[in-house]
Amino acid sequence: MSSKEKTLCELKKDYLKENLQGYKKLVRDACFVCKKCGRAAKDAEKLCKPVSLDS
Ligand SMILES: [Zn+2]
Repeated sequence: MSSKEKTLCELKKDYLKENLQGYKKLVRDACFVCKKCGRAAKDAEKLCKPVSLDS
């Protein structure tokens, strides 16, 4: 897997439709939320402005 992955913030609605199972995995154990977009993810690198949910 060498291709650069997009952040969840950049994903379009169509991605969710087609990759809902994969998206669920990314958000299921979310530790970070994007303070710009409001998306949540397990990996900070999946968000454009990640902040920890614990802080
Ligand atoms: Zn974002």
